[in-house]
Amino acid sequence: ASMRHSRIQRTKTVCTYCGVGCSFEVWTKGRDILKIEPSIDAPVNGISTCIKGKWGWDFVNSEERLTKPLIRKGDRFVESSWEEALNLIAGKLGSIREEYGADSIGYIASSKCSNEENYIFQKFVRSIMGTNNVDNCSRYCQSPATSGLMRTVGMGGDSGTIEDIQQADLVMIVGANPAESHPVLATRVKRAHKLHGQKLIVSDLRKNEMAERADIHLHPSPGSDLVWVSAVTKYIIDQGWEDHGFLTARVDGYEEFRQSLDQYTLEYAEQVSGISQAELIATAEMIHQAKSVCVLWAMGVTQHRGGTDTSTALCNLLLTTGNFGRAGTGAYPLRGHNNVQGACDFGTMPNFFPGYEKVSDDDVRHRYEQAWGVELPSEPGYDNHQMVDAIEEGKLKAMYLFGEDMALVDSNSNFVADMLGKLDFFVVQDIFFSNTAQYADVILPASPSLEKDGTFTNTERRIQRFYEVLAPLGDSKPDWCIIQDVANALGANWNYTHPSEIMAEAASLAPLFAGVHYDLLEGWNSQLWPVHPNGTSTHLLYEESFHFPNGKAKLYPVEWTQPYEPEAMYDLHLNNGRLLEHFHEGNMTYKAEGIRHKVPGTWLEVSPELAAERGIQDGSKVRLISPFGKVKLSVLVTDRVKGKELYLPMNTSNEEEAINRLTSSYTDKVTHTPSYKEINVMMEVLTDQ
Ligand code: SF4
Repeated sequence: ASMRHSRIQRTKTVCTYCGVGCSFEVWTKGRDILKIEPSIDAPVNGISTCIKGKWGWDFVNSEERLTKPLIRKGDRFVESSWEEALNLIAGKLGSIREEYGADSIGYIASSKCSNEENYIFQKFVRSIMGTNNVDNCSRYCQSPATSGLMRTVGMGGDSGTIEDIQQADLVMIVGANPAESHPVLATRVKRAHKLHGQKLIVSDLRKNEMAERADIHLHPSPGSDLVWVSAVTKYIIDQGWEDHGFLTARVDGYEEFRQSLDQYTLEYAEQVSGISQAELIATAEMIHQAKSVCVLWAMGVTQHRGGTDTSTALCNLLLTTGNFGRAGTGAYPLRGHNNVQGACDFGTMPNFFPGYEKVSDDDVRHRYEQAWGVELPSEPGYDNHQMVDAIEEGKLKAMYLFGEDMALVDSNSNFVADMLGKLDFFVVQDIFFSNTAQYADVILPASPSLEKDGTFTNTERRIQRFYEVLAPLGDSKPDWCIIQDVANALGANWNYTHPSEIMAEAASLAPLFAGVHYDLLEGWNSQLWPVHPNGTSTHLLYEESFHFPNGKAKLYPVEWTQPYEPEAMYDLHLNNGRLLEHFHEGNMTYKAEGIRHKVPGTWLEVSPELAAERGIQDGSKVRLISPFGKVKLSVLVTDRVKGKELYLPMNTSNEEEAINRLTSSYTDKVTHTPSYKEINVMMEVLTDQ
């Protein structure tokens, strides 16, 4: 340890922020982080990083880090030993399970934590606690995309790599803002567009940086993407531009699908989406002329009541035009958190074991029962949205959550906070005292990625190794160690000594990861799933076949769900998303000096037209009111937004400014992903500033 303090160390890590998955070396001396150095050998980013990866690490040494377990005593939290905290948790969870049954407890995993931590958590929930009530934050973002992919092509991951996106003739970005949310990936698209003749179509309410660069910027009315995508698909078919050979050889359901498009005429699409027929035709022509097309999408598509259906419509368009299975083609839902892909992959979902095998499938379940030596529940459990409802209904009595600030990031947060307050027992495991922690009975101090070993999986399905840079601070521990301790306190007899052992177990059970091995992940090496037993990665999916028993993809007819119609007094639409400099609620980035200095807080974007109409300017204070709550914000007037459309970055840990004070409990019909993007508000100008 003394050597460690006196010498400069260089340790490889993988970024803790977004799903692009940049890797770099962290230079440290003692606990001081001296610099972040990317490498030409880094498979995703090479020598690039964005501001968060470069400067966003001060939080690990923040004085606000939790370093001891805390136990609620009345209105206060007092420090405790690990033993006392673990005994309390085991006693309470054990007795609640005994009294109300295994399904009376809900478990929330973390997309900030490693594959191994998610694997061991779902194993704990299923094999020790006897329920499938486990979920992660993909329910808040990309579950609808996964579900659209499952319907059409059969696998819940990006079709190819970032390299493939770079090779496309045409990139379509729908409801995403990669220049801020996935910066290093966006630079690849910017370069290909600027230097190599790649075409770019962007559909977004807001004129974000990619929209400014685009050859065509479509500005649909809120929630109407499915309509214009279907109309473009229909127009392509009407012109005879569909890929006949591909459809005949590789796709089922064409005839039925073609008929389902009848209503999506150009006139209808223009009327619903506000996009002119000329723009729709130009879009169809550009798709037709491109030899390879890939579609990138994110929350602007998924966070609607029809999120799964719009994701499906995008896959239908790609199938109709033969854009799967070749370099430069395919579907790319962009993953938000660094390990949201991995959390889903490794089974913290109420319906899937690791590798997307159904808990209801007898053969699969028997495989896990044999390996774990227990009987497992066969019914899917509650997802995180259903857990909140189950608290209200009195069915869910306790929760155990790690690395997730549910009280701030779930929609309709006033309601969620009320529900968390009703739990009989609540365990929160985090690196900071989060907003959610205030409702906890026990708080367990965890370690961030720099203080542990493990692997993360990025948006390309790429599994990458990260190494311990610093020892865990104070009495904090890596999440996998804490979960193992909790499991053992509840009767397990586990003795994993390193995450590599957990990965070996996962690889032996889930065919998708059959050949994943730490030996093949050393240093800058990586593996992309599906990984064959001999260790070979899959870079591009669907080259030979789609992931269905007959190997064919499925065209899946969908219908448009009109966005929720607000009462007339809520006259403004409120879009929301991210800032380049901050990540989500900002619990890490606002604690990074350099970043906070540059962007100390958030703001509300208002169009010049609306500002003139309401008599407000930069810095004016306004209150936004929705049927579910209110927030107070500072105004920024910008032509990035138009007319009565507002934009609020979600990056704040200040509850008074948090978007989810305003959002509703409406969800995507299929996955229960909150429809965060369907909010209308009224605006009051505050004069006593
Ligand atoms: Fe980290 Fe994403 Fe920035 Fe890369 S692009 S440095 S992964 S936040």
